[in-house]
Amino acid sequence: MVKPVIPIRKETPRGPLPLVPNTLSEAHGRTLDRRQRPLRDLRISVTDRCNFRCTYCMPKEVFNQDYPYLAQSELLSFEEIHRLATIFVTLGVEKIRLTGGEPLLRKDLETLISMLAKLRTPQDQALDLTLTTNGSLLTKKSVLLKEAGLQRLTVSLDALDDAIFKAMNDVDYPVSDVLKGIEAAQKAGFEGIKVNMVVKKGVNDHEILPMAKYFRNRGITLRFIEFMDVGSSNGWNLDQVLPSAEVIAKISEHFPLVQIDPNYTGEVAQRWRYLDGAGEIGVISSVTQAFCHECSRARLSTDGQLFLCLFATEGFDFKTLMRSGRSDLEIANAVMQTWSNRGDRYSEIRHLHTKDLERKQRKVEMSYIGG
Ligand code: SAM
Repeated sequence: MVKPVIPIRKETPRGPLPLVPNTLSEAHGRTLDRRQRPLRDLRISVTDRCNFRCTYCMPKEVFNQDYPYLAQSELLSFEEIHRLATIFVTLGVEKIRLTGGEPLLRKDLETLISMLAKLRTPQDQALDLTLTTNGSLLTKKSVLLKEAGLQRLTVSLDALDDAIFKAMNDVDYPVSDVLKGIEAAQKAGFEGIKVNMVVKKGVNDHEILPMAKYFRNRGITLRFIEFMDVGSSNGWNLDQVLPSAEVIAKISEHFPLVQIDPNYTGEVAQRWRYLDGAGEIGVISSVTQAFCHECSRARLSTDGQLFLCLFATEGFDFKTLMRSGRSDLEIANAVMQTWSNRGDRYSEIRHLHTKDLERKQRKVEMSYIGG
């Protein structure tokens, strides 16, 4: 018997249906949660599949051919994503990041990008439209992405040393191909590209300096991400987290740095500039310096569940709401209602999350809700 290409998920775990209030109000561009945090960013996962098996994200032992990836019919269509994005923009979202899984694996993604690129905020501004990728398809797709209206790109790369990178992506993918992808993106006209490096203590921390050296003076902002306890399958342990403060200290010894202001309130990365003018780097310290108090991000999973926190255990089933014939105004009111009840601040209270609690409530995987 031929194995199905897309394994069928027998039973998709669905979160609760979002509440539509009885009295509907006009959508307006400022939606605050219980901690007075506005809804500004929307991350949209366009696929739960990836061609890498990064050991800290989609370890092979779990994400193998038996893994119940979503069936095609469960994915939001481009029209549905566009509809929801339009509603979110009327509610204050100014930035949309496409992610996954590996977003460039989603067929014809540039069509979705060109649809989203036409959206305007209530102040008639274009969106900040960006995408996070492992870079493997950039050589092929950069020009298409640029022409479709994608504004910015973030590429993930965890080491310059081929053996270390291959061990981390676990599919033998070479560094040189990611670097070629980044060059192709620059040639296609993408400026201000960011490169994300997840730092795992004892695994790739000795790559911090080589990475910094390589990306200095190239117009690329390298950002170091603390290894996070997202999902329930990466065997996270605090001992494997290298605090960002140590990253900064390590780089400063060779290339002095000075901290600079964020580009905007709620920016996840803390910015540092090289004193010699070689550009800037960033650190994302979700573990050692939680930034929940400024978090303005909602996450839409590949199958239309809305998550209010990267570390959530459950989302709100907007796909079913949308497919039940509700109007845009009803959906907008459901989003406002859901966001205004949001109180999550997982990273700030991480220490209270005992192993026992985690065993009972599995956090969703990053590949499903998007990084
Ligand atoms: N496939 C795309 C990529 O590789 O960039 C997008 C999805 S990936 C889940 C998004 C980002 O999340 C990547 O930069 C990845 O390194 C980061 N990431 C995944 N798991 C992580 C973890 N446990 N801790 C910190 N960052 C993580």
